[in-house]
Amino acid sequence: MTKKPLCWGLIGASDIAATRIIPAIKRRGDAVAAVQSTTAEWATEFAATHAIGRGVTDVDVICEDASVDAVYISSANQRHASQALAAIAAGKHVLCEKPLATSMADGVEMVEAAKKKNVVFAVNHHLPGAAAHRTLQKSVANGNLGRPLAIRVGHAVMLPPRLQKWRLDDPTGGGIVLDVTIHDISAVQAILGTVATEVTAIGTRQGEWGSDSNSQLPDAVMANLFFGATPVQLHDAFTVEHFPTSLTIIGSEASIHAENVMTQDPIGQLWRTAGTDVSEVDVGERRDLYDVALEQFQAAILGEGEPVVTGTAGLSALATSLAIQESIDSRKLVSVQSKGIQG
Ligand code: NDP
Repeated sequence: MTKKPLCWGLIGASDIAATRIIPAIKRRGDAVAAVQSTTAEWATEFAATHAIGRGVTDVDVICEDASVDAVYISSANQRHASQALAAIAAGKHVLCEKPLATSMADGVEMVEAAKKKNVVFAVNHHLPGAAAHRTLQKSVANGNLGRPLAIRVGHAVMLPPRLQKWRLDDPTGGGIVLDVTIHDISAVQAILGTVATEVTAIGTRQGEWGSDSNSQLPDAVMANLFFGATPVQLHDAFTVEHFPTSLTIIGSEASIHAENVMTQDPIGQLWRTAGTDVSEVDVGERRDLYDVALEQFQAAILGEGEPVVTGTAGLSALATSLAIQESIDSRKLVSVQSKGIQG
């Protein structure tokens, strides 16, 4: 198959589509046939703002459009499953935002449906595509750090005012775990090349979000996980304004501390420590994370590789996130396998 520009249908007229994916689609020279939103006025306004041919309310219009090769889904989390299943049934390749679904049953159905229909189904976890994260992954894979003894992730940030909506209050699709923690899990899965087996976590509500927000959904979490033999510690929050994000791999031969790398931008610095020697690690070419996601998605369509995060990897990240949510609620250790996936 020759590489030609893709024609996209967008399901969900969202902030992430506007700020990251549409610019990345345009940089590639791909086309967008239509954007769907459940609100007609918003669909029309969004289409006009981003020079997209049509704004529609019905997902079927995009699924039935023969010019559309691939669908990008960035609607509210609880809509991902039904919309992805409709697009897959219509034979479209699907790049779905995280979490791929809000239940394991839906996630499994999506991954299985894509396999049966022989279409590419990818989940848009951006971090594993970052040059910094690829450098961390290689450092583990090539044995440069020795045995990975522990990983610590700090992904506690301040939720920008424009995003202080459903993430804070929606009990089915919101909360810190399905928004931020799930990204950490996708990143650690890629770095260690394995999935989590057991988790224990505590969550709390810290933000002063105003009188409109009566929810007790956690906006800060600390979790401890086993990824095989490696203990992993995560701190995620919507409430932290004055501390950089970080990912530290502590190895038996050396360690790497990476700062400002839990982000949507191709930034951050890595330092390697071996004994008393501390040196900065070169991560090579830094590319836009969403450019990398779209490039690998198209390569997968052409049979030339895998997406940055496959549906199966997205499903493991969901299972682990749901186990963390259960541990927060029950205050107990939870096996990831109990969520319906092999650890
Ligand atoms: P938004 O809140 O911006 O949009 C989600 C939905 O809200 C839209 O699809 C639309 O619903 C509705 N909506 C938004 N703005 C308006 C408006 N002005 N008028 C009417 N309806 C509106 O979502 P986000 O961009 O924050 O997140 C979307 C998805 O992307 C989520 O699944 C999230 O988890 C994921 N995400 C991923 C990131 C990544 O880096 N991979 C980063 C940020 C988000 P409808 O579809 O019904 O029209």
